[in-house]
Amino acid sequence: MARGATRSASFVHETRSSVKYLLVLLVVGVGIWVLVKRLRSGGESPGLAERAAPVAMVECAHCGVHLPAADAVSEGSRLYCSEGHRRLGPAPIPPA
Ligand SMILES: [Zn+2]
Repeated sequence: MARGATRSASFVHETRSSVKYLLVLLVVGVGIWVLVKRLRSGGESPGLAERAAPVAMVECAHCGVHLPAADAVSEGSRLYCSEGHRRLGPAPIPPA
């Protein structure tokens, strides 16, 4: 009876240490998994950012409206939303 009790106590002790070992393995495994996941998503994020803003936006020098750079009318370094605003030229400095 006493021998059996000692054996079961020793078994419980061994079980506890293997559970601890498994927990450590689990934590390390999850840590590695999270690191790999972050590294992979970090590699993908520039692509996602490009998809989020696929069109470069520019501001009309006359009315200040924002439009896709492809639709802008350029004159020198200035960009306008339309041919009419290009002819009118840049807006005068608005009063403060
Ligand atoms: Zn404009």
